[in-house]
Amino acid sequence: MPIPSANPKAQIAALRNEIMAAVDEVFNSCQFILGPNVAALEEEVPAACDARFGIAVNSGTDAIVVALAAAGIGPGDEVITTPFTFVATAEAAMIVGARPVFADIDPTDFNLNPDLVEQKITSRTKAILPVHLYGQCAQVERMEQIAEKHGLVLVSDAAQAIGSEHKGRGIGAYGHAATLSFYPTKNLGGAGDGGMVLTNSEQIAEKAKSMRFHGTDNTFNYLSFSSAQYVGYCSRLDEIQAAVLRVKLKRLDEWNAARAANAAYYIETLKDLPLQLPIPKPENYHTYHQFTIRFARRDELKAKLAERGVGSAVFYPCPLHIQKAYADLGYKPGDFPEAERAAKEVLSLPVFPELSESDRKTVAEAVRECVLELA
Ligand SMILES: *Cc1c(COP(=O)(O)O)cnc(C)c1O
Repeated sequence: MPIPSANPKAQIAALRNEIMAAVDEVFNSCQFILGPNVAALEEEVPAACDARFGIAVNSGTDAIVVALAAAGIGPGDEVITTPFTFVATAEAAMIVGARPVFADIDPTDFNLNPDLVEQKITSRTKAILPVHLYGQCAQVERMEQIAEKHGLVLVSDAAQAIGSEHKGRGIGAYGHAATLSFYPTKNLGGAGDGGMVLTNSEQIAEKAKSMRFHGTDNTFNYLSFSSAQYVGYCSRLDEIQAAVLRVKLKRLDEWNAARAANAAYYIETLKDLPLQLPIPKPENYHTYHQFTIRFARRDELKAKLAERGVGSAVFYPCPLHIQKAYADLGYKPGDFPEAERAAKEVLSLPVFPELSESDRKTVAEAVRECVLELA
């Protein structure tokens, strides 16, 4: 049996009866949009992430869009972000009418380098949008200081980092907002699309709540809310997703610990090999959405592992500044050398919580053999 790089089937199989009972309840109530499960999820998820408020929306992408819009980011504004991320990060800035301005990553954690962020600040800069890639937090405390010094908004894309911590505080504790994705393969995944805006600001929470529902103030007065004038979105989370997510949320800590244990096993077992292992920083609790190694002959390694029945994945093969869709931003190859080198070298190994001890041993042995053949 091949070992997949991710395995959402295992989680559903283990919880099938509980999930189906929760979904059955939704059908009994026939309250499908923004009902009691969404309301409960909006208490439970922020509590698990050290945030005061949670506003559920219909994807992780929309969570970034709504968070930026609710924090006042719009046309003409510059948003400093990383080129080494899923496309949704920069796309969200574009959707609100802002311009993504990239800064290179720190090769030790693949995240936005705070020193380079500061160099990119102009009079048009309005926000910093770091990503906690693979489940390891970016240096958000430093970025909070930079944001404060320059009067900027700080929104973190925490799509891959639910449950992660920086200096003992959850991802919801930092900045103006943090955003989650409940895409099925994320550490907390639903049975479809979903996402959430986390914030400690009552004002941003209220505006985000209104924006996900066409900008309503609940009086059918769509263009005026709290004296602001804006057009909103249609981005509500449905009850079926919330019901599934609430069942799975109870296991999140246990699953994240299992991911961390798998990661610790690989780090111990593979430490003598000529490859770069992930570097969990002492100030972070890394929840290993991905366990990502670096190896110069990455594509050959991936092919050899596949021959041995070991799945692996590349996140992400092309940095955003050289994607065709972003050509108008005017970047060229060579602008962000660390992001470009990472894109050529990264390879994520199976680290999902249900990975058995014998499977992870198989993975580690296959990696050892293949790396030594290629080194
Ligand atoms: C998954 C992901 C998103 C988008 O989430 P969706 O729920 O798929 O819209 C955004 N940013 C990052 C870093 C992601 O991994």
